[in-house]
Amino acid sequence: MAKIQDYNFGGKRVFVRVDFNVPLDDNLQITDDTRIRAALPTLKKILGDGGRLIIASHLGRPKTGADPKLSMKNILSHVSELLGVDVKLAPDCVGEETKRMAMDLKDGEALLLENLRFHAEEQGKPMGLPKDASEEETAAAKKAVKASQKGFVKELADLAEVYVNDAFGTAHRAHASTALIADYFDKEHKMFGYLMQKEVNAVNEILNNAKHPFTAILGGSKVSTKIDVIMNLLGKVDNLILTGGMTYTFMKSRGGKVGKSLLEEDKLDVAREIEETAKKNGVRLVLGTDCVAATDFAPDADSEVVPCNDIPDDREGLDIGPKTIELFREVILQSKTILWNGPAGVFEFDKFGKGTEAVAKAVAEATKGGAYSLVGGGDSVAAINKYHLADEVSYVSTGGGALIEAIEGKTLPGIAAIEK
Ligand code: AMP
Repeated sequence: MAKIQDYNFGGKRVFVRVDFNVPLDDNLQITDDTRIRAALPTLKKILGDGGRLIIASHLGRPKTGADPKLSMKNILSHVSELLGVDVKLAPDCVGEETKRMAMDLKDGEALLLENLRFHAEEQGKPMGLPKDASEEETAAAKKAVKASQKGFVKELADLAEVYVNDAFGTAHRAHASTALIADYFDKEHKMFGYLMQKEVNAVNEILNNAKHPFTAILGGSKVSTKIDVIMNLLGKVDNLILTGGMTYTFMKSRGGKVGKSLLEEDKLDVAREIEETAKKNGVRLVLGTDCVAATDFAPDADSEVVPCNDIPDDREGLDIGPKTIELFREVILQSKTILWNGPAGVFEFDKFGKGTEAVAKAVAEATKGGAYSLVGGGDSVAAINKYHLADEVSYVSTGGGALIEAIEGKTLPGIAAIEK
C-alpha cells in the first residue's frame, strides 16, 4: 500500500473519492462545509505535486437518477474557492465527455465528477423501482444493476492512474467508487488520503493500542443499535459507561421502576447478558444512579431529580442527575483512553443537556491531563460542537456508521480494498 505523504503525484491523473455529501438549504446553498474542508489536505497535496486531480463524491440520496438539486454544480464554486483553483465540472461521472475532460487535464488542474449516485451502479442496487414492484421485477432489476456495475467500475477506474480514498464516511459500504474500483490499481498506486489515515489511526489507537484504564462511554437512545459495539468493547475496556436512553432498559432488567422512560422491553435479556459478560470480563459497568425525570418529552417540561430505578409512572428520564454526573466524571478523569459515542441525555433540549455537557467537559479535562480521546458518531459530534469542545479532545471522527462498524470490529470494505 502506498502512502500519500511519500507519493509524488506529479503528472499523474488521480481519482480521489471524497465525502462531499454536504447539507444544502432550500436555495441549494451549503449550510455546513466541514466535509469539504476535511478533504482539503489530500486534494491540496495532489495539486501541489502537480497532479491531475479527479474528484468524485456522492451528494444526497438521488431517488431516480440525475437530479439537478443534487448536482455537483451546487457545490462547484465553493470547492474551487477552498482549493484555490478553477475546478471544472464533468457532465457525468462516466461517459465519453467525462473521459475526454479527464484526459485533457493538465498538471495542477482539477475536475469534479458529477454525483456518483446518479447511477444505480455506484451502490449496486436498483433505483426508482415502483413501490408495488413484484418480487420478480425487483430481482430482475437487482440482477441488471449487478451486471452493469462491472462496466461502470471499470469506466471510473479508466479515468486515472492512481486511486486515493479519503471518504471515511462511506468506508463501510462496498460501493463502486469506495471499494470495487481499488481492484483496478496495484498496491503501489492506491492509498488512503490524509483524512482516512487519521480515522484509521484513531480507530487503531482505540481498538489495538489503548492505554489503560480504557473507558468507553456509550449513550444515545437505544441499546438495540449498540449491542455489537458494546459486545466488542467488553473485550477491551476497563470501564463501560452506559448512559442516555438505554439506562432504563438496564434499570428495568434489574427490576427497577422506569415510569414512561425510553424502554426496549424486548432487550431486557440483552441487558442482563451485557451485565453478565461485563462481570465475567472484569469490566466495570457504570450506569447512572439518579436522573432528571420530566413530565413530557419537551424542551420546557417540568422536571425533578429521582433515582433511575424509581421513576414515577407519569415521568420519563431525559438526563442524568448530579450524582451520576459526579460518578461519570470520576471514572472519566482516571482514564488514559476514552471513547465517547452518544449523548447522556436529550441534549437537543438545553434543559436536559447538562449531563451531556458534563461528560464533554470531563472528556476534555482528561485529554488535557494526557488521555487519548476519540469522539464519534453523529450525535456526540453535534454535542461536542454545541459545547465548543471539539478542539479539546484528541480526535473527532467524521464517520457515523463507518466509525460504529469499525468499533464493532468489522472490516470496512473501503479500508480492506486499499490494504489488500
Ligand atoms: P442514538 O442515535 O441512538 O445515538 O441516539 C441519539 C439520541 O438519543 C439523541 O437525539 C438524544 O436526544 C437521545 N437520547 C439521549 N438520552 C435520552 C433519553 N434519556 N431519553 C430519550 N432519548 C434520549
